[in-house]
Amino acid sequence: MKRSKVSVVIPVYNEEDNLERLFERLMPVMSSLGREYEVILVDDGSTDRSLDILLKHMVHGIKVVELTRNYGQHAAVFAGFETAGGDIIITMDADLQNPPEEIPRLIDTMEEGNYEVVGTVRRARKDSIFRKIPSRVVNSITRRITGVNLTDWGCMLRAYRRSVVEHMIAAREHSTFIPALASVYAKDIVEIEVGHEERFAGESKYSFARLVSLHFDLITSFSDFPLKFMLYTGFLLAFMGIGFGLVLIVARIYFGAHWAAEGVFTLFAVLFFFMGALFMALGVMGEYVGRIYKEVKRRPSYTIRRVYSSEGLINEDSGFRVS
Ligand code: UDP
Ligand code: MG
Repeated sequence: MKRSKVSVVIPVYNEEDNLERLFERLMPVMSSLGREYEVILVDDGSTDRSLDILLKHMVHGIKVVELTRNYGQHAAVFAGFETAGGDIIITMDADLQNPPEEIPRLIDTMEEGNYEVVGTVRRARKDSIFRKIPSRVVNSITRRITGVNLTDWGCMLRAYRRSVVEHMIAAREHSTFIPALASVYAKDIVEIEVGHEERFAGESKYSFARLVSLHFDLITSFSDFPLKFMLYTGFLLAFMGIGFGLVLIVARIYFGAHWAAEGVFTLFAVLFFFMGALFMALGVMGEYVGRIYKEVKRRPSYTIRRVYSSEGLINEDSGFRVS
């Protein structure tokens, strides 16, 4: 039986100091697999020497996809998916936090158990506490909204069957969180433990603001819980309002008009409270309307400038299908 081909997709954004080491560690692993492979590096609009370094390493089995600008990690991975021709598609980071040596285990697990997705749990995660705490919160939220019980959603070292990747591409969803999106299309998902290392060089590309935006996106694209939450809070506030009104009436009857006049300030407080709730509700509505607007425009979430392979330029800005 012909052994299935493996594609590795790696997003690269200003990783000039990591790339040499990445090739040094990844390529021996790939050739030891004893099967057909390709490594697709997606340059996500790097402003440093990353693209030059990538192009210098154009040996057999390596493809480089150049995006027109920086679109973000998950969009970059999607661009790689479009180019990937393997039966098993593996994603990983370029900063060597995901050890390439774990790839054979991912593939073996997938083939032995006939899984559609192999996720990973980072053993002894080497990240700052400010990176870990938000992750923990997000992991538990993601578990709830996807209904899939995985421990670690954030680790990008994952293996997907070709069919799952094709479904994700076909959906053309403007979602920015691939591990969660895959859970929509795959049934047989398993998790294995993998090592985690310090970033080899450079710094994390995720500032706190960017993390918040990524996770807000994750929640609004996978769940309408914020909408429902608004509805419930709205109800609750309305009931509280009625109750409070009753208390004011009763107090006025018992203590007389004098007391009620001083209560004007309480009424102001109540008013502000409701106004706040209203604005919050509007904000949430706005977020969903914004999503609809984005979807309707169908503006591509990335555009590819060129695709290089060792056999030469595959395509140049020819309206390569993007979404
Ligand atoms: N990345 C990218 N585009 C971006 C941000 C990050 O392609 O806009 C890549 C980055 O080069 C790396 C991976 O995504 O290969 C993960 O990024 P990083 O290590 O900064 O994230 P963290 O490990 O802190 O989650
Ligand atoms: Mg990293």
